[in-house]
Amino acid sequence: MEEELKTKTALCCHLMEAVGLINYDGHVSARIPGTDRIVINARARGRATLEAKDMVVIDLEGKGEAGAMEPPGETPIHTSIYRQREDVDCVAHLHPHYSTLLSIAGHAVEPVFFLGTSLGPVPVFAEPGHVYTRAQGQALAETLGQHRAVLIRGHGSVVVGGSIEEVFVLAIYMEENCKKQYYASLLGPPRVITSQEVERVAPQVWKPSSVAKVWNYYVEKYRAGLLTAPPL
Ligand SMILES: [Zn+2]
Repeated sequence: MEEELKTKTALCCHLMEAVGLINYDGHVSARIPGTDRIVINARARGRATLEAKDMVVIDLEGKGEAGAMEPPGETPIHTSIYRQREDVDCVAHLHPHYSTLLSIAGHAVEPVFFLGTSLGPVPVFAEPGHVYTRAQGQALAETLGQHRAVLIRGHGSVVVGGSIEEVFVLAIYMEENCKKQYYASLLGPPRVITSQEVERVAPQVWKPSSVAKVWNYYVEKYRAGLLTAPPL
């Protein structure tokens, strides 16, 4: 079970890197079911070539086994959220281009694209630096609250969910939505999908079968060598 989870988390890191949501930085973690331990990519391992052996197991205080590789410096992002949210089994810290751009421009993420209705409100954590300490992680987790994603101003995003697949697909939807929001705003004020419309559309697009379809699409494309990161 633990090995399987490591392999899938490593694959998710590959996919995130291949679609340009992480680069030399960024991390994905997953809770080992029924425990207060998580797997996360090791700090020093390149994100594009991770394997199960490059994943480390730590507890929710960030402590690993003696002699094991170090987790990322921003591990408090993950541990703080898992401590606060029992419903969360996967956390990704990303550096997405368009989502981050909106936080720099001071624009809230709005649902403008039908798949973006899956996101719900996306709060913004105002401090742009690294999240290195327990107190910083706690503050970020509080800003996230019960939502599915939070932006770190001028830095990146954190996306959470009940599975690795959910987090990957939500991260894709968020960046697609923000990209469209950015381009639409160049043409004029975007027509935001209203909250009544969100209530109608979100259940159509955010369901296990759709999440599985999108995850499988990216896995197959990646394995066929057809997924390449867009330039920054
Ligand atoms: Zn970061």
